[in-house]
Amino acid sequence: MIVMNSGATEAEVRSVVERVESVGARTHISQGEEVTVIGAIGDLEHVARLELEGFPGVDRVVPILKPYKLASSQIRHGERTVLDIGGRKVGGNHFALIAGPCTVESRDQVLAAARAVRDGGATLMRGGAYKPRTSPYAFQGLGQEGLRLLAEAKEETGLPVVTELMDARDMEAVLEVADVVQIGARNMQNYALLSEVGRAGIPVLLKRGLSATLEELLMASEYVLKEGNQQVMLCERGIRTFETAYRFTLDLTAIPVLKELSHLPVIVDPSHAAGRRALVEPLSLAAAAAGADGIIVEVHPNPDEAICDGPQQLPADEFAGFADRVEQAAAVAGKIISRVAAV
Ligand code: PEP
Ligand code: MN
Repeated sequence: MIVMNSGATEAEVRSVVERVESVGARTHISQGEEVTVIGAIGDLEHVARLELEGFPGVDRVVPILKPYKLASSQIRHGERTVLDIGGRKVGGNHFALIAGPCTVESRDQVLAAARAVRDGGATLMRGGAYKPRTSPYAFQGLGQEGLRLLAEAKEETGLPVVTELMDARDMEAVLEVADVVQIGARNMQNYALLSEVGRAGIPVLLKRGLSATLEELLMASEYVLKEGNQQVMLCERGIRTFETAYRFTLDLTAIPVLKELSHLPVIVDPSHAAGRRALVEPLSLAAAAAGADGIIVEVHPNPDEAICDGPQQLPADEFAGFADRVEQAAAVAGKIISRVAAV
């Protein structure tokens, strides 16, 4: 990591980049408000031999010891990444309230859910067209038809869409509607897929694998970042533990720890962790108060008839009250729910 002086000129930055690349290392420029940091990825010895500390504009050269380089908080010099998704900011003091059905089931269902979450003040809407199901015999999502219905919901409500991509062959179709591509927990270590979404340059919501450590999650994010895509949100969605009283164990400690280790926004999914509606609100409030940069929750107009994850989906008519209480909890951590009108 080459930290430039606060007054370093563009020409000085360019000349350092050229020198670093001349020895076969790759560079990533991170332009902070105060200083520019150049990440050099390659053979440490080759880069060290350049003795960059003597170069004009260079303040200091610091090795990043963590295995994840671009995801580490060190590279951003303490600054946090703030994403802009269709005019809505996520990260810093902007809290993302992401809500919508587990899966797109029908036109009526997705439109009703989308209207309810828009009216309740959601930041983004969610909805799966391609579903990672444990059983190959279970409903796998509406696929392209689901994407078409999501496009309609987006058109009507103006809410940007988060939807899952499971197979790079569906990338083109998904990119037509998605404002954020979700990489599900089961694909967290699908490195080919991560590199593809990295190259696509679209915002990514990367979910933590069911049994993945935080370091593994950060290494997975590194696959996206290394392709030049800086728009990554990390998502804690519950992990496997010995406890069986609920679906997964929501690892709330991951929130402050990820924020210590990385500059990337941290989103929490209480729905999949809980597996039961009654637990979704307390976990959401806890996540918001603990400093999460957003939550992603499942909302359905009629959860009892949902094709999947019915027991954990919040009824659409309860969303507005829920959103108000989450807003108060987020305020405890100094955050404001990001909506289109927010500045
Ligand atoms: C989902 O969000 O629809 C989902 C399947 O979540 P996860 O990948 O976390 O299980
Ligand atoms: Mn679900």
